[in-house]
Amino acid sequence: MNEMSETKRVAIVTGAESGIGRGIAHRLAKDGFTVVVNDVNIDKAKEVEQEILQTSGTHMAMAVQGDVSKREDVFSLVEQTVKAFGCVDVYVSNAGIAQVNPIFDITPEELEKIFSINVFGTVYGLQAAGEQMKKQGGGKIINAASIAAHKGASLLSAYSATKFAIRGLTQSAAQEFAPYGITVNAYCPGIVGTDMWDYLDEKLAPYMKVDKGGAFKAFVDGIALGRSETPEDVASFVSYLASSDSDYMTGQSVIIDGGMTYS
Ligand code: NAD
Repeated sequence: MNEMSETKRVAIVTGAESGIGRGIAHRLAKDGFTVVVNDVNIDKAKEVEQEILQTSGTHMAMAVQGDVSKREDVFSLVEQTVKAFGCVDVYVSNAGIAQVNPIFDITPEELEKIFSINVFGTVYGLQAAGEQMKKQGGGKIINAASIAAHKGASLLSAYSATKFAIRGLTQSAAQEFAPYGITVNAYCPGIVGTDMWDYLDEKLAPYMKVDKGGAFKAFVDGIALGRSETPEDVASFVSYLASSDSDYMTGQSVIIDGGMTYS
C-alpha cells in the first residue's frame, strides 16, 4: 500500500492490548496511521501505545480504556478520538471472547456475556463509527469474524453464533452505509496463537482427550499451509482492508486461515 497517502489517517482498534488486535495496531501504525488502542485493560493498552510511539517514529498513538459491550464506552471512544485527532478513518471492531461448552450446558449468563461483547459490541461500533464517518463523508469499518462465521464447530456453538451474526451485520451495514461512502468488511482468521487459543486449548483438551497443547496441535495439523496463523498474517489483510486498495470492496467476510475452510 501507499504509505504516504495514509500518513494522516486515524484508526481505532478495539481489544488491542494483545493478540490479533495488537498486531493490527502495530501494522496500521507502520502503514502511517495514527492509532487509537482500545481495551478494557488500560495498563496493557498503554504499553502498546508506547511500543507504537517508539517503533513508528513520529506517528501518533493513544490508549483509551473502554468496554465494547457498553454503548456509552464505544461512543466515548469515538468522541475521544475525534477530540484528539479530528476524525476516524478506520474502525476495527476486533475485541471478542470465546467460550467452550456443549449446547446442553450453556447458561443464560454465558450467552449474555458473549453476545454482549461480540455482537452488541460490533453493533455499537457500527453505530458510533458510522455516525462519525457519515459526518466526515466516508470511512472503513472492519469487523472481526472468524472461520467460525462460515462453519459451526462442535463445542463452540455460542461463539460461532456470534460470529455468524457479525457476518450478517457486515452484509447489512455495507448496504445501509454505502450511500455515505462507508465500506464495511470483516476478516475471518483460522487458528491464531493468542491468549484466546490458550483458553480454547485448555477448555477443549478434556473433550478431545488430549494434554495441554494437544487441541491446538490437532487444529493446526489440519491447515494446508502447515503452520498456525500469526497476528501479523491477519494484520496484513486488515492493512489491505484499511487502505484505499480495498475501496471497491464492501460487505465481505473473508477467510484468511492458511487453508482450512473453503468457501
Ligand atoms: P485475545 O483474547 O488474545 O484478545 C482479545 C482482546 O480483546 C484482549 O486484549 C481483551 O482484553 C480484549 N477485550 C475482551 N473483551 C473486551 C471488551 N468487552 N471491550 C474491549 N476489549 C475487550 O483474542 P484474539 O485471538 O486476539 O482475537 C481477536 C479477535 O479475533 C476476536 O474477535 C476473536 O474472536 C477473533 N478471532 C480469533 C481467532 C484466533 O484463532 N485467535 C480466530 C478467529 C477469530
